[in-house]
Amino acid sequence: MICLGIEGTAHSIGVGIIKDVKGNCHIFSNLIKTYKPEKGGIHPREAANHHATYIADLISESVQKAGVDFADIDLVSFSQGPGLGPCLRTAATAARALALTIEKPIMGVNHCVAHLEIGRGTVRGCTDPVLLYVSGANTQVIAFAEGKYRVFGETLDIGIGNCLDKFGRAIGLEFPCGPKIEELAKKGARYLPLPYSIKGMDIAFSGLLTAAENYISKGKPLEDVCYSIQETTFAMLTEVTERAMAHTEKQEVLLGGGVASNKRLREMVETMARDRGAKFFVPSRDVCVDNGAMIAWLGFLMYDSGLRMSIDESIINQRYRTDMVEVSWRG
Ligand code: AMP
Ligand code: MG
Repeated sequence: MICLGIEGTAHSIGVGIIKDVKGNCHIFSNLIKTYKPEKGGIHPREAANHHATYIADLISESVQKAGVDFADIDLVSFSQGPGLGPCLRTAATAARALALTIEKPIMGVNHCVAHLEIGRGTVRGCTDPVLLYVSGANTQVIAFAEGKYRVFGETLDIGIGNCLDKFGRAIGLEFPCGPKIEELAKKGARYLPLPYSIKGMDIAFSGLLTAAENYISKGKPLEDVCYSIQETTFAMLTEVTERAMAHTEKQEVLLGGGVASNKRLREMVETMARDRGAKFFVPSRDVCVDNGAMIAWLGFLMYDSGLRMSIDESIINQRYRTDMVEVSWRG
């Protein structure tokens, strides 16, 4: 079965075409176009306009690159939520138009669950992981338990990527700031204490962000502040992930989301996994970030398990939570 997936939850619009090969995800094409605000954060309507401008060409290019015909596509899936309303609507509208035109079924999927499933679908040996999902807007620790993907811990305020981007913006870095902070942090020599706030299994970053900005106003070296932000936030994320692994007794940990590109975060989580005798997995970068292939893959899994969705049911849900999804495709 060949599935085309459209991802459009925030700053990127992506189109991916996949095929299932004996339960694994084979990716034919996976194109992404990212909206970069000239200044400030993402403006939802501006991002949606960006997506509307590029989506038609992106679909044609994806089909071409995949070496398939429109007639070969068996299913169209799209990111139904969570995300920014105008962006979700643009992706959903494109998916409906395509599905109706080529007369193929449609499937709306949960974006966070797609991040987990693409790990299971593309990384050899990854079968039942605890996912540390670290992106711009989202930060969640997710694992399968009793028929659903449950959120074992999450941010109470902003996502880790957002925290890094906000700090970066305050010191004049360009979006995305995460990679630049990573480079600066490598030159940091001294740890500056920052709030380490874990409440139960949840995390908060905004106090730390303010404290980090205060260090800058007081003239502390930028490299030291970046180093301290990474050490503190990544330790918090690793701690919550470890507790979720201990609680669920799972033996695998998977990273997902744009911040998973960070080498220091990988190192910390990998060390934790090794100490527990667990396996550590990171998918390749192109499927870690927001992308159409993961949406296509989850669409396929849902359809293949017998789920069907009418056009009427394909309305978006900005607050579509991970644990609202009935996972019918896992035993
Ligand atoms: P996503 O929302 O999953 O597309 O991921 C985008 C986020 O990932 C942005 O907030 C980036 O700043 C962040 N990011 C990308 N690369 C890195 C990196 N190497 N280290 C930290 N954050 C990163
Ligand atoms: Mg994402």
